[in-house]
Amino acid sequence: MANVANQAESVAWGTPLSGQGQRLLLLGSGELGREVALEAMRLGIEVIAVDAYANAPAMQVAHRSHVLSMLDGRALKQVIEQERPSLIVPEVEALATETLLELEADGWTVIPTALATRLTMDREGIRRLAAEKLGLPTSPYRFAANEMEYRDAIATIGLPCVVKPVMSSSGKGQSLVKTDADIDSAWTYAFEAGRGKDQRVIIEGFVKFDTEITLLTVRSHPQVPDAQPTTHFCPPIGHRQQDGDYRESWQPCALNPKTLTKCQEIAKAITDALGGVGLFGVELFIAGDPNQAQIVYFSEVSPRPHDTGMVTMVSQNMSEFELHVRAITGLPIGDIEQIRPGASAVILANDTSNSPVFTGVAAALTVPTSKLRLFGKPRAHKNRRMGVALALGDTVEEARQRARDCAERVQVH
Ligand code: AMP
Repeated sequence: MANVANQAESVAWGTPLSGQGQRLLLLGSGELGREVALEAMRLGIEVIAVDAYANAPAMQVAHRSHVLSMLDGRALKQVIEQERPSLIVPEVEALATETLLELEADGWTVIPTALATRLTMDREGIRRLAAEKLGLPTSPYRFAANEMEYRDAIATIGLPCVVKPVMSSSGKGQSLVKTDADIDSAWTYAFEAGRGKDQRVIIEGFVKFDTEITLLTVRSHPQVPDAQPTTHFCPPIGHRQQDGDYRESWQPCALNPKTLTKCQEIAKAITDALGGVGLFGVELFIAGDPNQAQIVYFSEVSPRPHDTGMVTMVSQNMSEFELHVRAITGLPIGDIEQIRPGASAVILANDTSNSPVFTGVAAALTVPTSKLRLFGKPRAHKNRRMGVALALGDTVEEARQRARDCAERVQVH
C-alpha cells in the first residue's frame, strides 16, 4: 500500500478507476467532505465517500460511495479492506476510532493519525491532552457521567458555565447555565443529545472572551527526504456563534502581533501533539484589551478542515480544502496568500423537508463579489446548514455585510 503522505516524490499518480490510482476514502460526506472530494478529484485522485445516509453531499461528486454506520467497527473495516484506500480521511468525529487504530497498525494511512481521531473523537480526550498534558490555558472544566457528578461539577466550577455532551457538534445538547433554574434542563438536554454509548457531559467555566478565532494550521512534509513536518498558518478567522453553531466567519481577524504569536504557539503545540499531516482548525478564545497582553484560551481542534474556514474558498489563493489535500498527499504547500478581506454567512433551513427547494438564488448573487455554495443535502430540518454565502470586500465589515445580504436572500422551503 502506498503511503502517499510520506513519499510524494515516489508516488505514481495513476488514473482514477484504473486500479492504479490513489484512492482517498472519506469518512463523513457532508459539505466539508464534498469540497475535499472536489479538490482531490482535481488532482486526479479516486474518491470514495462514506456516510450513514445516502446521497450525502460528498457522495454526489465522488467516484463511489457506501452507506454505513461509521461507529460500526466491523462495517468500517470491511469497506476499507474492500476499497483499499491509500488515504483514510475522516471528516467527522463520530467514528469507530478503535478500529482506525487497528487499521493503522496494519499499515493503512489514517489522516492525520488514528490517535488524533481517537483523541478528538470526544471533548474529553482533546481537553485532557491540551490542559493536562500540554499545559495549555483552557476554561476550567469537569466531566460528569451521572446527575450527581454533574451537580458536584457545577458546584465546583460555579455559574455561569457551559454544559455540552462530550460527543456532539454544531451546538447539539449545549447550554449556557446562568442560574440555578437552568441546571436541570441543561443536564437533560446534554444527556439526551449526546452521541455514542457512553454519554458523558463536560461542564466548562464560561470564558468572557472578546474575540473567538479559528487558526487554520497546516502540517506538511517538506520536499526533502526524512525531514519532520513543517507548520504553516493561515491568517486568523474570526467567527460568530449562536446556540453553539457558527453563523458567520471572516478573514482576516485583526489581532495584535503578540496575541497572534501566542495563538500560533498554542496551535503548533496541539497540532504537533496530534501529529501526522493535514490541515487542522484550532479554535481559540481571546480575552482582554487588544492594547495590552491578552489571554488566549485553547478551546477545541478539528484534525481536518473547519466549518468557519469555508471563507477561505474566496479569501485565500488556496482554500482550506486544497491545503488539506496537498498536505495529506505530500505535495508542497507553497505560499498561503490572502486575496482580500472575505466573509461567509450560513444558510439555514427553517423547517423539516424531504426535498428542500431553494429560492432567491438569483437575487442573492446580485450582491457584489458574492458566491454561493448550496450543499445539496437531501433533507432539511430546523437550523440545519444547507448552504453558505461567500463575499469579498475592501474591509472585513464590507465583506461581512455582503455575505449576510447574500445569505438572507436565499430561502429554503
Ligand atoms: P464548541 O462546540 O465547544 O466549539 O462550542 C461552540 C461555541 O460555544 C464556541 O465557539 C463558543 O462561542 C461557545 N462556547 C463554548 N464553550 C465556551 C466556554 N467555556 N465559554 C464561553 N463560550 C463558550
